[in-house]
Amino acid sequence: METLNSAGNGTWDADGGKCVDISIVVPLYNEEESLPELMKGISDTLGEMGKSYETVFVDDGSSDASFDVVKSLRKTYGARVKALRFSRNCGKSAALHAGIALACGGIIVTMDADLQDDPKAIPEMVAKLGEGWDVVSGWKKVRHDPLGKTFPSKIWNAMTSVVSGLRLHDFNCGFKAYRAGAAKNLDIYGERHRYLPAMAHWDGCRVTETVVPHHARKFGKSKFGAWRMFNGAMDMITLLFLKRYMKSPMHFFGILGMLLIGAGVGVLGYFGVMWVITGAMRIRPLTLLAVGSMVMGVQFISIGLIGEMITNSLQGRRQYSIRERLE
Ligand code: UDP
Ligand code: MG
Repeated sequence: METLNSAGNGTWDADGGKCVDISIVVPLYNEEESLPELMKGISDTLGEMGKSYETVFVDDGSSDASFDVVKSLRKTYGARVKALRFSRNCGKSAALHAGIALACGGIIVTMDADLQDDPKAIPEMVAKLGEGWDVVSGWKKVRHDPLGKTFPSKIWNAMTSVVSGLRLHDFNCGFKAYRAGAAKNLDIYGERHRYLPAMAHWDGCRVTETVVPHHARKFGKSKFGAWRMFNGAMDMITLLFLKRYMKSPMHFFGILGMLLIGAGVGVLGYFGVMWVITGAMRIRPLTLLAVGSMVMGVQFISIGLIGEMITNSLQGRRQYSIRERLE
C-alpha cells in the first residue's frame, strides 16, 4: 500500500503492504566485518519474538567487500535478506530513505550496521509501538564513544529539544522503530537523519524514546567527522525555517523588510524635517545607514515574494498527513 499520494501528501494509516511483521533497515558504508554478526543477532532476536521479518541492507557505496558479504548472507538467510547497493556514497539519509521505501513490514526498525546497536533491544521498542506510539527513538544512555563526540552531542540534543518542541535525550541515535506509515512519510534527504524524531513530531506523530544498550565500535571507524557539527547546525536552521515559514515565507521576510524600511524612513524623515526647519542638509553616517536599511528592506520583501512564488508552485505538496481513515 502506497503511503504518499502523487501530490506528496502523507497518510500514515497505510501498513506498508505488510509482507512481513517487521522490516529492519540497515544503512552501511564499509562495514564488511560487522555484517555477519549483526545478521545473526537480528535473526536470533526476531526468531525468539516469533515475528516474520526481513532485513533491508542498503550499501551506501562501500569500497570494501560489504556487498559481497550481504550477497553471502542472502544465500544463507534467503528472502529475509533484501539489499540495495548505491553506485556511490550518497550519505546515511539517502540510504535510510531508499531502505524505508523498499521495506514492506508493518513495523520498520532502523539500526546502524557497526554493532553499536544491539538487536536485543528490538522487542522492547516494538512493544512500545504497541502502546500507541508511532515512533520509538533509541536513547544511548550509557554511551561508548569518545568524549569529543558525546559532549557536543549533549549540547546539540538539548538545543534540538528546545527548537523542535520535542523533549528527547538522543535525537541522532540510528536505532529507531516506526509504524511503517510514519517512517514512509518522512522526507529524509541531505543530512536530515539527525532530525527524524523532530520531523515526525512536527508531522503529528506520537514520538517517545526508550533506553537502548550501546556498544563500542568493534571494527573500522566512525564515518562522520568534525563537519557533522557544522552541517547539523545548518540543517537545524533550514528545518526551523521550513517548519515555521514554508507556507508563508512572506511572514518572515516581509516583517524583516518592513522593519528595515520603517527604520530607514524614520531616520530620513527626521533629517527631512530638520532640513525644512533649519535649512541644513546633512549627509551623516546615519543617513547612509538609513538608505542602506531601506535598500535591504526592499530586498527582503523581494526575497519573500520569490519564496511565496516557489511555495505557490508547490501547492498540494505536504499540506497534510493523515493518521487514520474509515472507508
Ligand atoms: N553510514 C552510511 N553512509 C555514510 C556514513 C555512515 O550508510 O555515508 C552508516 C554506517 O555504515 C553505520 C551508520 O551509518 O551503519 C552510522 O555510522 P557511524 O557508525 O560511522 O556513525 P557514528 O556511530 O559514529 O555516529
Ligand atoms: Mg557507529
